[in-house]
Amino acid sequence: MIKLKADYVVTMNKNYEILLNAEVLFDKKIKEIGYNLPGKSIYLGKNSVLMPALINTHTHLEFSANKTSLIYGDFITWLESVIDKREELFLSCKGDCYKKAIEEMKKSGICAFGEISSSGNDLKYLKHSPLKVVYFNEIIGTNPAVVDAMYQDFLNRLDESLSLENENFKPAVSIHSPYSVHPILMDKIIQIAKEKKLPIQAHFMESPAERSWLDKGEGPFKLFFEKHFKNAKPLIKPLEFIEKFKNTNTTFIHCVYANEKELEKISEIDAKIAHCPVSNRLLNVGKLDLEKVKNYKIDYSVATDGLSSNYSLNLFKEIRAALLIQTDLHPKYLAKDLLKAVTVNAAKELNLNNGSIEIGKDADLITFKLPESVNNLDIIPLQIILHTNEVNELYINGGKI
Ligand SMILES: [Zn+2]
Repeated sequence: MIKLKADYVVTMNKNYEILLNAEVLFDKKIKEIGYNLPGKSIYLGKNSVLMPALINTHTHLEFSANKTSLIYGDFITWLESVIDKREELFLSCKGDCYKKAIEEMKKSGICAFGEISSSGNDLKYLKHSPLKVVYFNEIIGTNPAVVDAMYQDFLNRLDESLSLENENFKPAVSIHSPYSVHPILMDKIIQIAKEKKLPIQAHFMESPAERSWLDKGEGPFKLFFEKHFKNAKPLIKPLEFIEKFKNTNTTFIHCVYANEKELEKISEIDAKIAHCPVSNRLLNVGKLDLEKVKNYKIDYSVATDGLSSNYSLNLFKEIRAALLIQTDLHPKYLAKDLLKAVTVNAAKELNLNNGSIEIGKDADLITFKLPESVNNLDIIPLQIILHTNEVNELYINGGKI
């Protein structure tokens, strides 16, 4: 049993309680929170913060070898560069490359991440990850002639990940997007997710190109599809796509161009959204309207996406970017929501039993220090986001990592 005492204990519980000079007692799970708890406490020092460890809901570690290979600034140009460099980047990311990516996340206080795996190449590097992994086997493919082969490949990858399931490694599924997956495949995979109660992720309405393609079969995606797939028609309407995920635990990634009806539908089926502000900025697609997302009562997480569209996997940097990009929202209240986004909300999206300091939750915790004391408790989330890049300690299931 370990007992930590911090100047600020940020619980992330329902009432957003921040406790001063409080203690947290835990083994693998959190046992008690409060004052004068039994046992000897370890005091974390002046201006110390103890809070739930962060959760990065959406990454593509397969692309971690990318630094300057991919072309930023325009979505379709970037996508062409991904197609062009994909194999090369995958082949050059081996043990050390994955280790470095995980190390960066660990230093920034991430205890768990959602990995989108398109190839299965990453499995051997991630199955023994020191951080918790929710492993999203991704399906991509629209050509009816190869749908069966695609599905078989997906099933093989899924089976392998299911055989590795343990308390720190959870399999899941991902449908790449409404424009890149055949509806027959979508249905099959959603059915599997329902039967096995697996979380789902799908990219949705990331770019204006996707908007005009799905609405009218026009725009830059028309040329793109003709060039690569000889496919001249979108296969599904956006609302139909969302509707398919009813009665599942689904997170739609990006949603920058989701319209009001689509946000309403996402809210209605109780799906979530993952916001990746740096990726959106680098691909120059604009920003998610977080105020609308809130108005529709949709819970959102913030994630780094992969190094295919980011320069870093540090989640504190990512929420700081969100804070600075989302200029329509008051920084004090936005900061509170952003901390929720990378803890409690993220835990729900990934079906994890962490993300808050509450009795019975996994003891996945981080400790760090603020540069000075903060008198106004209401402003603590903002100060944390402004002043934190790395953490001092990361605990996962009560063990120091
Ligand atoms: Zn992504």
